[in-house]
Amino acid sequence: MEPAISPPWVHRALQQALQVERSHALLIAGPAGLGQFEVVQGLMAAWLCENRAPGALACGRCTACHLVLQRTHPDAAWLLPAAWRVALGWEPVEEGGSKAKPSQEIRIDEVRSALAFAQSTPARGVAKVIGVHPAEAMNTVAANALLKTLEEPGGVLRFALATEAANELLPTVRSRCQVVAMGMPAPAEAAHWLAEQGVLEPEALLALAGGQVLRALAWSRAGWRLAQLQALPRSLAQADLSAWSAATPAQLIDLLQRLCHDLLGLEAGAPPRFFVDVALPKVRHAEPLQQWASSLREAKSRSEHPVQWALWLEALAIEGQQALRAACQPLHSRA
Ligand SMILES: [Zn+2]
Repeated sequence: MEPAISPPWVHRALQQALQVERSHALLIAGPAGLGQFEVVQGLMAAWLCENRAPGALACGRCTACHLVLQRTHPDAAWLLPAAWRVALGWEPVEEGGSKAKPSQEIRIDEVRSALAFAQSTPARGVAKVIGVHPAEAMNTVAANALLKTLEEPGGVLRFALATEAANELLPTVRSRCQVVAMGMPAPAEAAHWLAEQGVLEPEALLALAGGQVLRALAWSRAGWRLAQLQALPRSLAQADLSAWSAATPAQLIDLLQRLCHDLLGLEAGAPPRFFVDVALPKVRHAEPLQQWASSLREAKSRSEHPVQWALWLEALAIEGQQALRAACQPLHSRA
């Protein structure tokens, strides 16, 4: 298990959420990579704690707190995509020899079990809590099934939802929750925290991650150094992505999308957002990049399904190289 992550902004959001003691459904909302999941965890623990003052954090010592830590509290339930359970180590990677990748969606059967949990009598009587993360992962059917209970949970039931894309939530879900907004921490605070976690060159890594602190941390933990990341345009120009064979498809496509975004911006006269200027080629045409961007979007939608990664990596490299070449060609080359 990774050590518990509790950046100061997670702590602040948790404090803020705990001031809203009377709401039965809280939605922790903010941009990706801030730690909404940790806020929901802290909130659930506090609501179930049997030894705390109103508005305070969970005591961490009572029986309820121990049960929450061990994930055996009978009055706590999670609505998580299967992929999250696997990533958190809550479920084994593969079940029954099935080759299907775990789902990124929260499905209707999961909501049904949560609704059955909602109907049950609380075992310890203090509270019953359902944590939902990320709430936008509920498909429409699943979200609609949850609406009524979300509106009127009844008894001691409460909801703690988190989202990294509040705009993708059904308005009917959002309107039933009290929103606790998490803002981006100041870059200096985020970089300082990353440095404390042992991340090298935290400012530049953070910029490349678009300010997403936990993403920068994940990159660093995956062993990716800034130099390797900044060399991506050069590697692509040589159609060589072999240095990225240990990355997941989603991680690599995410990086390629950042690169494409920066190049499109350059063409339009905007400064790059993720990569350093000197690492980027001179762009002359936007069309090849727009095509590349749409192809990457399409690749992203397929990246959750089983693929032959080595072949895919080559295809991504060649496609990227061609897009770069076409985008950087002189307008009137005299040959
Ligand atoms: Zn406690």
